[in-house]
Amino acid sequence: AIRISGLTRSFGARTVLDGIDLDIPAGQFVALLGHSGSGKSTLLRAIAGLDHEVTGNGELRTPERVSVVFQDSRLLPWRRVLDNVVLGRRGKDARERGLSALAEVGLAGREESWPNQLSGGEAQRAALARSLVWDPELLLADEPFGALDALTRIKMHTLLRELWERHRPSVLLVTHDVDEAIVLADRVLVLEDGRVGLDLAIDVPHPRSYRDPLLSRYGERL
Ligand code: ATP
Ligand code: MG
Repeated sequence: AIRISGLTRSFGARTVLDGIDLDIPAGQFVALLGHSGSGKSTLLRAIAGLDHEVTGNGELRTPERVSVVFQDSRLLPWRRVLDNVVLGRRGKDARERGLSALAEVGLAGREESWPNQLSGGEAQRAALARSLVWDPELLLADEPFGALDALTRIKMHTLLRELWERHRPSVLLVTHDVDEAIVLADRVLVLEDGRVGLDLAIDVPHPRSYRDPLLSRYGERL
């Protein structure tokens, strides 16, 4: 679970996060929308513990095991795919965990490939595998499919939702794609003026279809 209250972040005179209050229960799948520059990545970085300059007298509580996935895979080009996936993991089960994570994301057999031999979608699969080997309680994803073509993106949606159903981490997914948000998430937040301006429960069973009727039901509110 995540518990945030009064989270504030300024850059110089500009206050980007202005006292954010947010609770995310364990295992909830949440999407975060907001205009470019609204502070989505800033909030994610703060939750990930990557920002040591957040202020405010509130609290920020996050689980112990947090994984982060970004828009680019951030695979190290000089390491093979499996070595990237298990990077930082020690112990003799590391290889086994890495191979099983690669199998889960549909990359069985690609463990000895180099990152530049993967397509964009495959590289994001590898990034998801790298996050899985840490068995995260919280998965933070900052536009993980933003650079992919529309068809690949839909495949990745299916994959992410399957992984979530199997492992049940809390997910906070930043996206610009309203379809992506309401097809995947059970709760959609919109960041506005440094606050959570809209907090919408999506109570449509899965699997969900794209566009109508979802967009007609929720679209005008987002
Ligand atoms: P996008 O959808 O384009 O990714 P975002 O919602 O993720 O946007 P942020 O990257 O969180 O937006 O940035 C929010 C605001 O904070 C922007 O105005 C940005 O210029 C500013 N900002 C972010 N990081 C810094 C920094 N290190 N120094 C100064 N300003 C920053
Ligand atoms: Mg961003």
